[in-house]
Amino acid sequence: MPEKSEFVRQMEVVENNLQEYRLVCEERDRRLEECEGPHDFQCDRSLIPLHLQKYICSKCGGWVGHTEKVWYERGLEHKDKLIAKIKRFLVTSTWCAVGGVVDEVIDSVLGIIDEG
Ligand SMILES: [Zn+2]
Repeated sequence: MPEKSEFVRQMEVVENNLQEYRLVCEERDRRLEECEGPHDFQCDRSLIPLHLQKYICSKCGGWVGHTEKVWYERGLEHKDKLIAKIKRFLVTSTWCAVGGVVDEVIDSVLGIIDEG
């Protein structure tokens, strides 16, 4: 059997590294997907250089980069603003205020939003 060239050996190393990286990413995605949420991302400062730092969720152990963390948190802020807007609308709606069912309606609306 002929000896593998250096190039072929290097390509096998790269392929193995990519395979390992893919498995790690699948595990990360699974953790993030199954998290009860909302994620609580904390900076992992053990990684140097700083641009490689990741943020690990204290609940599920999943992790993201800085950009993903920032957009995730911005999404939560927008959700909170939307809920506050819906609450203001419902509180000022006669049928809701009279019935005193604001919280029930909010829960229903959020349930519908979660179902997509
Ligand atoms: Zn999480």
